[in-house]
Amino acid sequence: MSVGTALPLASDGATSRGAAGGTRTHCPYCSLQCGMTLVGQRRTTVEPWTEFPVNEGALCRKGWSATGLLGHRERLTTPMVRDRSTGEWSGVTWDEALDLVARRLREVQAGHGPDAVAVFGGGGLTNEKAYQLGKFARVALGTSQIDYNGRWCMSSAASASTRAFGIDRGLPFPLADVEQADVVVLVGSNLAETMPPAARHLDRARENGAQVVVIDPRRTATAERADVVLQPVPGTDLALALGVLHLLIAGGHVDEAYVAGRTTGFEAVRESAAAWWPERVERVTGVAASELRALADLLADRERVMVLTARGAEQHAQGSDTVLAWIDVALALGMPGRQYAGYGCLTGQGNGQGGREHGQKADQLPGYRMIDDPAARAHVAAVWGVEPDSLPGRGRSAYELLDALGTPGGPRAMLVHGSNIVVSAPRATHVQERLEALDLLVVCDLVMSETAALADVVLPVTQWAEETGTMTNLEGRVILRQQARPAPEGVRSDLDVIAGLAARLGSPIDFSTDPEEVFAELGRASAGGKADYAGITYDRIRAEHGVFWPCPSPGHPGTPRLFADSFATPDGRARFHAVDHRGPAEVVDADYPVHLTTGRVLAQYQSGAQTRRIADLPDDGAFAEMHPLLAGRLGVADGMPVTVRTRRGEIRVPARVTTTIRPDTVFVPFHWLGVNRLVNDALDPASRMPEFKVCAARVEAA
Ligand code: SF4
Repeated sequence: MSVGTALPLASDGATSRGAAGGTRTHCPYCSLQCGMTLVGQRRTTVEPWTEFPVNEGALCRKGWSATGLLGHRERLTTPMVRDRSTGEWSGVTWDEALDLVARRLREVQAGHGPDAVAVFGGGGLTNEKAYQLGKFARVALGTSQIDYNGRWCMSSAASASTRAFGIDRGLPFPLADVEQADVVVLVGSNLAETMPPAARHLDRARENGAQVVVIDPRRTATAERADVVLQPVPGTDLALALGVLHLLIAGGHVDEAYVAGRTTGFEAVRESAAAWWPERVERVTGVAASELRALADLLADRERVMVLTARGAEQHAQGSDTVLAWIDVALALGMPGRQYAGYGCLTGQGNGQGGREHGQKADQLPGYRMIDDPAARAHVAAVWGVEPDSLPGRGRSAYELLDALGTPGGPRAMLVHGSNIVVSAPRATHVQERLEALDLLVVCDLVMSETAALADVVLPVTQWAEETGTMTNLEGRVILRQQARPAPEGVRSDLDVIAGLAARLGSPIDFSTDPEEVFAELGRASAGGKADYAGITYDRIRAEHGVFWPCPSPGHPGTPRLFADSFATPDGRARFHAVDHRGPAEVVDADYPVHLTTGRVLAQYQSGAQTRRIADLPDDGAFAEMHPLLAGRLGVADGMPVTVRTRRGEIRVPARVTTTIRPDTVFVPFHWLGVNRLVNDALDPASRMPEFKVCAARVEAA
């Protein structure tokens, strides 16, 4: 299919087509990592890859149009340096750019110490890049200050899964298992719009007789294909889970044998859930007690219940506890480890899973090892050929890192790879001020993103179809994105940038620029860790449609399903956690009486740096979705401009009036510069996830 050729779209935006020749690779965007075939090197077109089991040839419109960014007129192909006094950009050679960056980094570190330089990565980077970035920070720079934007995406579910199961893999089963479930509960997920090809599995589940439950303040496209829809007040999913637990316990529906044999900690949960009777839950969540009872009855009755959370439940200051409460529900029913049942998180970014496994997170080393574990440090240091004591310790989490930029004791220089921070960070105006306070900001990107525009040096790097590397999708399936065409002249891979800087900084070890070689080293560094890739090779991935980790040896088949016999905790048992509802960090009041929530739309992806530049994707800009009752109170009609104001700023956007949202809530998508300036930067105490999903706002006719 040529770029932009209109295919007949199904109502969910996903399409299927037959097989074709070309290079088998994967979509550059979300965590589904749909398989696709790219044909032609000069004029590259997308064809389906029907054998790839996750999407079976179907793609959403973002996938079909992804080649629109190859050869785009805004593509950067020359390193650029900005003169701060005039604001003017000039093109320089790669040697000049890398020499300049290395010299300035050395100066900053000589004056202020190793931690004065920070590195900020992204959940869209390949595993190889994420791994090299972590190694580069700890060895070539010697800094502890590295984290990444995935901290803002899935970290609450990661934290909760680790505490409950001893391991964090988005889905502990293949996505297609959804089709065999009896009940699928989606908490805060709009997968029909964010990853339309995944909705086929949900539809097949319903064809097989399953009931689908959607819990979301908005009646989304996903809710339209559900049997039960609950629309709680934003920020109250935890109370809802406690209410379900209360009813399951009161009704005698707990799987006592499972709880006794495979878990610990249930008695404390029994006590805490006792305080959440249905009428109290109704007062907090706005969900009628009768609806809550119906949901509990539905879950109590079925053999195979699957609970899946996503950002709607997770991006809160109590996001980790919310996920723990839903895991408690799944454990009370005896589901985790049972076939076609259990708990899972639908990760968001393309490599949201792999990006948090191999060392670009402030507290981690490759293989999902913790950086303050002496054995982990010794293992990884041996693979890298350095002394364990030379590795720095734990650094700041993503938002805390950005908040500290340019402050006394904070980093004074930063390298950014694969992240458009100015659009995607919470309290973005403040974050932009912190970026502007740096002595040196270096951004590696494809285009002049809003963040690159603030940099002192911008380095043009390769994108998906111009490079090879692995990603780990939402199922824990390691897949291979293969290069389909040469990179434009003047563009280099992030791996080249890392190696070039490491050499100039006098790194004690070399950094390979060959992705397959880097992946083999990543496998050795991960060996024995929780996310063990030691048995995975590029050839195996090609032959097997991806390999599920853990895969500790070449003869190991990989692990599509976890927890069948035991959990990854020291005693093999899952942990219940007694948690309580605290509510959002910022509650509505007379001055700010409306809940503001944010999210995605079908045609755009994350900060929009890629998708907003693709002509075949509609770009209508941000809008404020509101109920007719709210619009009526404000005197606003559909399409009229409104001002959305919070304690951190205001934006002006057109109103979109619809009955599908709660009357006390306004929704603004986050793909455009604006709404993240309004959201609250309160952090979850365990995951350090900011509270993107709810804050108090005032809306007025503009
Ligand atoms: Fe698939 Fe996600 Fe790409 Fe759409 S954006 S084609 S759902 S990987």
